[in-house]
Amino acid sequence: MTTATESSVSELLTSLGIEQDNSGAFCGRWLDTQGSPIESVNPTTGEVLATIRSATTDDYETVAAATTEAFHQWRTWPAPMRGEVVRQLGDALRQKKEALGRLVTLEMGKILSEGLGEVQEMIDMVDLAVGMSRQLYGLSMHSERPEHRMYEQWHPLGPIGIITAFNFPVAVWAWNATVAAVCGDSMIWKPSSKAPLCGLAISNIAKEVLEANDAPPIFNLLIGDRKQVGQHLVADPRITLISATGSVSMGRKVGNVVAQRLGRSLLELGGNNGIIVTDDADLDMALRAVLFAAVGTAGQRCTSNRRLFLQKGIAAEMKQRLVQAYKSITIGDPMDPAILMGPLVDQQAVDDMVAALETAQQQGAKILYGGGVLEGPGFFVEPTLVEATGEMPITCEETFAPILYLFEFDDLDEAIATHNSVPQGLSSSIFTTNLLSAEQFLSPGGSDCGIANVNIGTSGAEIGGAFGGEKDTGGGREAGSDSWKAYMRRQTCTINYGRELPLAQGVEFDVG
Ligand code: NAD
Repeated sequence: MTTATESSVSELLTSLGIEQDNSGAFCGRWLDTQGSPIESVNPTTGEVLATIRSATTDDYETVAAATTEAFHQWRTWPAPMRGEVVRQLGDALRQKKEALGRLVTLEMGKILSEGLGEVQEMIDMVDLAVGMSRQLYGLSMHSERPEHRMYEQWHPLGPIGIITAFNFPVAVWAWNATVAAVCGDSMIWKPSSKAPLCGLAISNIAKEVLEANDAPPIFNLLIGDRKQVGQHLVADPRITLISATGSVSMGRKVGNVVAQRLGRSLLELGGNNGIIVTDDADLDMALRAVLFAAVGTAGQRCTSNRRLFLQKGIAAEMKQRLVQAYKSITIGDPMDPAILMGPLVDQQAVDDMVAALETAQQQGAKILYGGGVLEGPGFFVEPTLVEATGEMPITCEETFAPILYLFEFDDLDEAIATHNSVPQGLSSSIFTTNLLSAEQFLSPGGSDCGIANVNIGTSGAEIGGAFGGEKDTGGGREAGSDSWKAYMRRQTCTINYGRELPLAQGVEFDVG
């Protein structure tokens, strides 16, 4: 297996302003943090890439105070001026796209094409947010009172907290940060401790853009454990919104703490995404889509395909074609363009996959293909097809690994019912050439997910639509459409331009 050489790794890190011993707190300047060290590990080799001195509780206070102060300045900038700063962030990201894409691949293990795609998603988010900066519209409505005018306006919300997962170590920051910035918010980002270097690289890029514009430090960073950083951020009443992306268990804890203080939360949590393939489907298309959705990013996308429902007329053929295709998946160094599947993120992820497969077999499942762990170095596994039989509780859980459970069904009502029977509700697809089946899947009684696709896989959403899911996935929406409203506060204004003071609903309240 070929791997990136040591010198090319250090050149890459240097080009992104990363050293061997880095501070984990940024608020317009890097703080001299002295918290316990966090190692960034290359999942392809198991080697330590760099060490970060994590933030302490004191660092949290410094960053939170600076972020609050930055908000008071930034909210006075007109939204299109804020958009211009974000536009320049896009220029900087374009210049660093190759290096950033490589860093994502190095630190998290997705193949380079996907690493670069993730940076492209950031750039796309910038473009969308720049447009939004001139379209933060409020409605105006007719007042029931004479000579009155009524309208809604949207104001910046405040300092916000962004908690991100390891699997999209830069794009999820951009979903939040670009929109929040044009909305007038400042922010503290707590990236995953499994991908801290991505946080350092982005903070270095954002710092230069803000300084070139004499803008306040709105893009801030805290790397640290839950006690020193995460819990303070979530519990801090100054932080008006916590946007948290990660597992359902994290969302339950974070959501509870934010709810206790009546703050706002935007939760983007785990998925358990199904694809239904009917007898009349185009099987070539379905096969390609399932492969990318189930094997892409080594099954470590929130939208990864984890359950495949095959109608009985095509089930045998699809299974046979899937096994053939799985055999041809190239596994190895994600920097190598010939490779389709890189490693899992760490040993824990490998152990979780092995445990899930053991449980599945105890519950009656049969492994159709894969199931193995590859020899180290690195955290490589085989993509795995599992024939699910009847009710298997393990298929209701999200295992963050390339395991695809296969189900067979007779009719679409039955398939949709089983599809919807899991706690999560993120992404879903149907492959069919029958208009009636497609529309049934999209109808109110169809898929219960936040994303429902026809003849497209479950992963790889575009940023123009609102992204997020229902049920245990948390109900949050980010990226396009009107998701920006989560980052602003709405104000309803009524103006009386007459000389009388009529009350609404015809209420009389005259003195004397
Ligand atoms: P994770 O839940 O382990 O961690 C996510 C983030 O939350 C990390 O930064 C972590 O440090 C932080 N965190 C955990 N507990 C916390 C607490 N009590 N207080 C504050 N912060 C806390 O998730 P992960 O393993 O990094 O990522 C994989 C998970 O993320 C999967 O479940 C995946 O489906 C989900 N995910 C969801 C989306 C989405 O948009 N719905 C996108 C990407 C990933």
